[in-house]
Amino acid sequence: MPHHSVNFAAYFQTAPPTLLLKPDSPRFTIVDVNPAYLQAVNAKPEDLIGFGTLEAFPDNPDDPVTQNVQSLRNSLITVLHTKVQDILPSQKYDIPIRGTDRFETRYWKATNSPIVNDAGEVEYIAHVVLDITKAVVSAQEERFAYELSEARRKATQQMEERLRLAVDSANLGTWHIDAITREFIVSSRFKALFGFAEEEPMTFDEALGQVDPAYQKKIQKGIELAFSQGQINDLEFPVIGRNDGQLRWLRSTGRLYAAEGGKAANFSGTVLDITKSKLDEQRKNDFIAMVSHELKTPLTSLNGYIQVLQKKLAPQGNSLVSILLEKAGKQVGKMIGLITGFLNVSRLEAGKIQLETSWCDMAELIKEIESDIKIDNSSGNIIFSPVETTWMNVDRDKLELVITNLISNAIKYSPADATIQVTCTPQDPDAVKVSVKDNGIGIKHEDQPHVFDRFYRIENKQTNAVAGFGIGLYLCKEIVERHGGKIWVESKFGQGSTFSFSIPLNAVSNT
Ligand code: ADP
Repeated sequence: MPHHSVNFAAYFQTAPPTLLLKPDSPRFTIVDVNPAYLQAVNAKPEDLIGFGTLEAFPDNPDDPVTQNVQSLRNSLITVLHTKVQDILPSQKYDIPIRGTDRFETRYWKATNSPIVNDAGEVEYIAHVVLDITKAVVSAQEERFAYELSEARRKATQQMEERLRLAVDSANLGTWHIDAITREFIVSSRFKALFGFAEEEPMTFDEALGQVDPAYQKKIQKGIELAFSQGQINDLEFPVIGRNDGQLRWLRSTGRLYAAEGGKAANFSGTVLDITKSKLDEQRKNDFIAMVSHELKTPLTSLNGYIQVLQKKLAPQGNSLVSILLEKAGKQVGKMIGLITGFLNVSRLEAGKIQLETSWCDMAELIKEIESDIKIDNSSGNIIFSPVETTWMNVDRDKLELVITNLISNAIKYSPADATIQVTCTPQDPDAVKVSVKDNGIGIKHEDQPHVFDRFYRIENKQTNAVAGFGIGLYLCKEIVERHGGKIWVESKFGQGSTFSFSIPLNAVSNT
């Protein structure tokens, strides 16, 4: 074969990283090295040529596990004896960084090939390496990314599982509405709560059809608001079971979830059976209503007797008896007021308070309230600002109740001779604002949002001396809101309060 025609020197210069070793086991002296190898190990020829292989590449003392040097030596000895090529498994090699005592990690695949002369002796061993560091590192990174995403997926799955358990054990029904397709997906518990059989299909309209008609509009409005403004939805409503005809009170809470991970945006939530607590509450209301009603009749009679007695005694001029009768009359009046409050609350809760609207003049109404108050409260200093003639379509009696309630609170929670100011002013657009301002005890900032809650009373030295059940402002709020208006308080503790409400001129158009 015409060996001489091949330029081996030129081939060596461009070959893959190669070391040419002498077969002088166990030293395996390096006789030549090509540029690719020098580049791969970041070395100069003088670092390697003339050195024993294991001298040039000692074991990394920081890495006692991988015994690459040992396996390299074994491979070289094997090649020497067998005279056939040996491929080392791809391994981690720690290459010393020249001029430092640090090492650099590489992944190499190496082959040791015997170069046999005509006499059949091994003249050299060619040690050729392939640097697969990049491939290994990127495979490792891929693996790491995969494991991370697996771990995430598992964590999500676990969370979903836990959530499902919680939902199941709380007997919650679940529902989803797809934001785009409006597809309605519900759990079997949800179906059961609406009186549907598990395998029975159920559309949104069919579910809504089982809800008390008085609540259907509210639910539809709530869903629209959740979709358009991302509002959290929390509603209570009675449902008649489709197959069992049973009445259930349900509480549904839900919110909009943004599109994520391939899932479209959806409005999802849970429903809870609150029938028992609703019925308990209703029984309590019925009880309050019954007791108040039973108490009101004898009290009204008592009031009547006192008034008759006062009239009879007046001409006789018995001053002590008439003073005492007047006091008795006032106390009975207070009791009637309290009981009327309870009756109103229980009627309100039962949904029995309806607005009976008619057109009336605010100026008239305020004037009437003023003269009533002046009779009852001759000592107080209550200033009524002049009111323009303003025609409104409202429930006059209930509005009167609201204003007198605010005024009597202002009296109750102020010193005896304090000034109270009542104003009624037009407001844009088509509304009026009524304010009752006092210089009384005031309300702490943290209590202000709660004073309109049912049975909420502030406990402190000043308020403990005042009788009340914390229902006056609750009633005011309900009445104002039923007129499509709002009520609020501005106050500084120790400096007085201003309670205000605003309602539209025509309450009917707002309900
Ligand atoms: P009640 O007066 O029967 O307790 P309300 O619902 O009318 O019930 O009022 C709730 C609470 O708000 C009162 O207990 C009182 O602490 C506080 N409050 C109401 N009006 C005023 C006011 N004008 N000044 C200070 N505190 C007030």
